[in-house]
Amino acid sequence: MERRRIDLPEEEIPEYWYNILPDLPEPLPPPIDPDNGRRLKLLQEVIPSRPLQFEFSSERFIKIPEEVRERYKQVGRPTPIIRFKRYEEYLGGWLKIYGKMEGYTYTGSHKVNSAIPWVYYALEDGAGFVTTETGAGQWGSAVALAAALFGVKAYVFMVRASYFAKPLRRYLIQIYGARVVPSPSDLTEFGRKLLAENPNHPGSLGIAITEAATYAREHGGKYVVGSVINTDIMFKTVAGLEAKKQMELIGEDPDVIIGVIGGGSNWGGLAFPFLGEELRSGKVKRRYIATGALEVPKVTKGVYKYDDPDTGRLLPQLKMYTIGADFIPPPIYAGGLRYHGVAPTISLLMSKGIVEGRDYDQETVFAMAQKFAELEGYVPAPETAHVLPALKELAEEAKKEGRKMTVLISFSGHGLLDLGNYADVLKFG
Ligand SMILES: *Cc1c(COP(=O)(O)O)cnc(C)c1O
Repeated sequence: MERRRIDLPEEEIPEYWYNILPDLPEPLPPPIDPDNGRRLKLLQEVIPSRPLQFEFSSERFIKIPEEVRERYKQVGRPTPIIRFKRYEEYLGGWLKIYGKMEGYTYTGSHKVNSAIPWVYYALEDGAGFVTTETGAGQWGSAVALAAALFGVKAYVFMVRASYFAKPLRRYLIQIYGARVVPSPSDLTEFGRKLLAENPNHPGSLGIAITEAATYAREHGGKYVVGSVINTDIMFKTVAGLEAKKQMELIGEDPDVIIGVIGGGSNWGGLAFPFLGEELRSGKVKRRYIATGALEVPKVTKGVYKYDDPDTGRLLPQLKMYTIGADFIPPPIYAGGLRYHGVAPTISLLMSKGIVEGRDYDQETVFAMAQKFAELEGYVPAPETAHVLPALKELAEEAKKEGRKMTVLISFSGHGLLDLGNYADVLKFG
């Protein structure tokens, strides 16, 4: 019988994360501080210290603490790989399609993979609580769950417009016992100032980052970061390391690896363990495709340069493909793709032609996601669904060349809390 689902037993949860820095084709351009050290100092004050060290580490494998592995188990790891046979047939039978199913974790996305170690290392520093920002709430709910599992309080600064317009993940954050406030909030001086100017201020991720970082600094907490930086992606390689074992278990080797890029963490988390091995051998034979939203076209129209990672200009600048920190994204439903830049590690690989970028528009993506759900039963998150048009293009290429391909996808999350977005875009009555 052909395998539809490939599982790993719990004891096979990886014991080490993979750090791609020593295997990159050239050294990663370092963060720079245009404010004479002020930004770097803030970073040192608010970010947990071990993850900050990992950010510059040349160690290839870093041990996952048992306390973290234990909680990986508790939230549903290892996640399965699923083969999407009916979708393969729908695309003409030219592709074998495997998905690494991060939606099988309790908060429904890959984000717990890093939330758990971030909270662990914050506590190692003696933090009284953790803070973070969130847009639609995927990251906020992951941090809330991680904090609950370690018995510590989390403060989540949620973009005010999303707080009111998208309450479902806010409720999830509240269920996990975290405090979630609309940002701008009255918890920080910056927030109070903005609220005084406009009591209905819609907020932004940049403002929420500023509030979360300053609140942590002023009250003895630590601030945790959900994507973009190398440490966060390294934490998320737990998924790719599992996937490598799973593919080996069935004797398969992907020709192509695809994922969607918000900041780059689910993509890097899946692809880096595969790509790292190829970089070490000196030959990259697989294709690595990073997809994104046409409405926020950083992977196809971004410029590779130093830019601010946050609109508040609080954090050191990073060299990355960016459409500009001041870019105001249109209100697309894939909230996780609204970020303006691509992780520096992935950007470097894009600049060398090792990773290719492709963008797709929202209507196309949702229509394909609906078809996918009808055929496979699984409703992808709007972000995740941005891989589907790339699959169609690959099937067409394979047909033209008369050569079958095996594809591994980062299935970053499920869309069961995003059904309202499906209804809006597909105009359900
Ligand atoms: C947040 C999110 C993304 C984008 O973030 P990355 O850091 O690029 O992974 C993609 N998919 C889902 C389901 C998300 O929640």
